[in-house]
Amino acid sequence: MQRRLPTEAHPFPAARPRGISAIRTAAISLPLVLAFALARPGAAQTPLTVGGVTAQPGTTVSGELQVPARGSDTGTTIPFSIINGSRPGPVLALVAGVHGYEYPPILALQRLRTAIDPKDLSGAIIMVHVANMPSFLARTIYYSPVDRKNLNRVFPGRADGTLSDRIADVLTREVIDRSGYLVDLHCGDGNESLRPYLYWETTGAPGVAEAGRQLALAFGMDHIVIDTSRPTDPKAALYLSNTAITRGKPATTIESGALGQTDEESIARIERGVAGVLRHLKMRETGPRAVDRPVWIGRNQVLNAGATGLLYPSVERGQTVAEGALIARITDFHGRTLEEIRAPFAGEVLYVVATPPITKGEPVGFIGERATPEEIKR
Ligand SMILES: [Zn+2]
Repeated sequence: MQRRLPTEAHPFPAARPRGISAIRTAAISLPLVLAFALARPGAAQTPLTVGGVTAQPGTTVSGELQVPARGSDTGTTIPFSIINGSRPGPVLALVAGVHGYEYPPILALQRLRTAIDPKDLSGAIIMVHVANMPSFLARTIYYSPVDRKNLNRVFPGRADGTLSDRIADVLTREVIDRSGYLVDLHCGDGNESLRPYLYWETTGAPGVAEAGRQLALAFGMDHIVIDTSRPTDPKAALYLSNTAITRGKPATTIESGALGQTDEESIARIERGVAGVLRHLKMRETGPRAVDRPVWIGRNQVLNAGATGLLYPSVERGQTVAEGALIARITDFHGRTLEEIRAPFAGEVLYVVATPPITKGEPVGFIGERATPEEIKR
C-alpha cells in the first residue's frame, strides 16, 4: 500500500492565472530580489545553449537533440526544454524517459515546463522530456527495441556505438556537461509494482556525496535507499545519475509510479519533489521543505530470477517481510515450480515484478533493510 500525500497547495502557484495573489507575491519578494542584487553587484543571467538552441534570460525554449543515423539504425531525437531564469544561479538537469515505459516522470515534466515561470527562476533548468524515444514509442521495458541495451547501463556512452550508446553520449555532452545538478526521474517499469523511493548515491567525492544527500532530502520522498555500489570510474559510470556524480555534480535518481500507470499521485509527487529541489538550490524562493525524518534503507538487494518461465509474486510493494519469506515463485510453461525466491534478510519490499513473463537473470524484486545510524551518517 502507498501512503497518500498530505493535501497541500500546488507547488507552482505562480503558474496559475495571475491576480491579486501574484501582486502580493511580487511585493513580498522585492526586498529579497534587491538583497540578492546587492550581494552580487553586476551579476546577470547569461543565455544558455543546448543542442544549438539558445534560451535568453527569462525565457523558456524547446528543441530536439539529434542522435544521427549510424550503420543500420536511423538515429533518433531527444526532445528537451530550457527554462532560463532571469537571475544567475545553478543549472539543474531533470531527465525523464530513460526507460520509455515509465510515464509519471514524462507527464510531470510536461506539466513543469509550463508551470515554472522563468521570471521567477534563478539559474536554469534543462528538461529532457523523453530520453529514450525508441523505447517510449515501441513501449518496451528495460531495453531499447533497436539494440536491446538498457540505456541506464551504458553511460557515459560512445559516439561510435549502437543507438543506446549514442543517446547516452549525447545526453552526457549536451545535458550533464552543461549542468551543475541532475535528477534522473524514474518509476517502476511496466512490469514492476514499486513503492516510491529515491537513491542517495554515496560514491562521489565527499562534498559531492553530501550535496547529493541534501538533494535527495530536498526531493521530499519518505524512503531513501543508501546506494554504495555505483562505479567510481567516470569512463564506466553506467548510470545517468552516476555519470553526473563521477564528474563532480550532485545527482539523485528517484522512483515514483509503477506498472505503466499514469496516476495523479505519482505525477504530483514528482512535481512536488522538483519544487523542493528548486527551493533547496535557491532557484526559487518558495517550495516544500526537505523531508524531516525519512526511512533510510541501508542493506538492499535486487533479487534475480534463476529460471525462465512464469512469475507468481507472493508479496506486495511496501510489504514488510521476514528473512526467508517467499517473495515469488517461478514455474515452467507447464506449471511445474522451477524456483522459489525468498527474502535473504528481513526488510521492506521496495518493488516486486507483478506480471508473468520472467527470464533467467532478470530482477524479480528489491528488498531493503532500515539503515543503522552509522550508515546514515556515512
Ligand atoms: Zn527506470
